Amino acid sequence: MFSYLAVKVRAEQEGTSINYRKISRDDVLKLLVRCRLTFNNQEQLVELLETSCINNETIEEDLFLTLTELYKGTSNGYLSEIYEAITGEKAEVIGKVDELFKCPCCNRKTLSESYDSKKGTGYDICDYCRWEDDGTTEIDTHSGVNRGTISEYRSKIQENPNLYYKEKWYLL
Ligand SMILES: [Zn+2]
Repeated sequence: MFSYLAVKVRAEQEGTSINYRKISRDDVLKLLVRCRLTFNNQEQLVELLETSCINNETIEEDLFLTLTELYKGTSNGYLSEIYEAITGEKAEVIGKVDELFKCPCCNRKTLSESYDSKKGTGYDICDYCRWEDDGTTEIDTHSGVNRGTISEYRSKIQENPNLYYKEKWYLL
């Protein structure tokens, strides 16, 4: 009811305008970097960055690049919710969102490239359902790399909604 979008839509309908501070996607990620540096110890950060030796001077930069990759393709609205959760302030996140490809299993746009045997692209792993895009499209065809079928992965999402459900509110 009091979401940023609801307030904005109402303001537009009433002909008034509400201007929230505009911040860039990079600024939200930099804020997340500062949070990670505060809350994670060196060992956890090294694990997150998937590296064995880390130089203290570059850790902030590496963390920023890792988070940029992690939040690639997520909506500006999602980042503004993260910003509000951390700071308690509403802000409009602006910036170009990278277009991602649809996962054949969960249908979310999570893949940085789609499977194409001629181009030699694919085998990206979906961040949401963990399906590896190996070109399988039939939902009951067994996939070797995934050790299962798309149907089985979809059932796992249904059976563990708390592990997979990422939206804040249910759709009616
Ligand atoms: Zn998926």
